[in-house]
Amino acid sequence: MTVRASPKPDNLEKEERSSYFGLPGLDVSVGFPQATPASVFPPCTSDYYHFDDLLTPEEQAIRKRVKECMEKEVAPIMAKYWEKAEFPFHVIPKLGALGIAGGTIKGYGCPGLSITGSAISTAEVARVDASFSTFILVHSSLAMLTISLCGSEEQKQKYLPSLAKLDTVACWALTEPDYGSDASALKTSATKVEGGWILEGQKRWIGNSTFADLLVIFARNSSTNQINGYIVKKNAPGLTARKMENKIGLRIVQNGDIILKKVFVPDNDRLPGVNSFQDTNKVLAVSRVMVAWQPIGLSMGVYDICHRWKPHEGFCSLDT
Ligand SMILES: Cc1cc2nc3c(=O)[nH]c(=O)nc-3n(C[C@H](O)[C@H](O)[C@H](O)COP(=O)(O)OP(=O)(O)OC[C@H]3O[C@@H](n4cnc5c(N)ncnc54)[C@H](O)[C@@H]3O)c2cc1C
Repeated sequence: MTVRASPKPDNLEKEERSSYFGLPGLDVSVGFPQATPASVFPPCTSDYYHFDDLLTPEEQAIRKRVKECMEKEVAPIMAKYWEKAEFPFHVIPKLGALGIAGGTIKGYGCPGLSITGSAISTAEVARVDASFSTFILVHSSLAMLTISLCGSEEQKQKYLPSLAKLDTVACWALTEPDYGSDASALKTSATKVEGGWILEGQKRWIGNSTFADLLVIFARNSSTNQINGYIVKKNAPGLTARKMENKIGLRIVQNGDIILKKVFVPDNDRLPGVNSFQDTNKVLAVSRVMVAWQPIGLSMGVYDICHRWKPHEGFCSLDT
């Protein structure tokens, strides 16, 4: 037999609700002291997967450098920025100085790391903060990689050096409001005009787009019906990127809704190597390898966070 709670009178429910919403924010440090912000990120307690044994001295050095920077520069501020859902722009030059943006790309001021070196640096960023690893992955393993694989020699020379130093930031815009998993059906159009192209459409969820200097945008060529790629500059007339609010995860990452209203892109900013969705897929196939290292880093961080908990009576230690 199902017993139903008797419905509360309307006014009582309203009063309960408004007193609930009127309350000050929960002071987590009092209610749940173990969960206080990780202002001191716990040191790495174990090289759990024995990565270091597999790394060359150069790879070990980059791993150490990334780990130290993340623990010193990001860990103390990440809870605050997560709460505010804002990005700490002052950290960008420090990440730039690490020499990890551009990952395995060789030349053009890029670090030319080994695949393992790039992977372990992605994991070390993710060990401390998932949002930061998303910021770097979008910039490096999507936008920079697309320019390196599909850009002209002139575009590589022009854009990659400052992106590698993180003097400029890039985003990568494929997803649209109605086309996410089904990205190859995207509708944003690119129409040829004298001297360039006119882009018209919308993009959604695009990481870094609210502040990116360069936006790699995929659009459907209105004469061939194939997907092409374009480099659009921040402040291009007709371009707007509005922050998506109220996210429940990756709150430091600034995801944007992009609107393109007759945005003109000159011919020399069309990516000559993107002539169909197959070319977009070539970039995704390479970038997904690095994305897979994000959850590995997250798991390492979870292990380290768990490990700093002192064993309580009735709980067993992770060492046992
Ligand atoms: C934090 C974050 C950052 C992102 N950053 C970027 C970025 O920088 N650039 C970019 O281009 N995009 C970005 N995206 C977009 C991301 O690529 C899309 O969210 C993703 O492709 C899924 O698309 P969707 O959200 O429209 O969901 P949908 O495609 O609508 O999917 C919703 C659900 O339906 C399921 N589904 C969909 N199709 C099928 C099917 N045929 N059969 C069975 N199940 C199906 C999916 O598995 C999913 O569970 C980002 C997304 C997030 C959340």
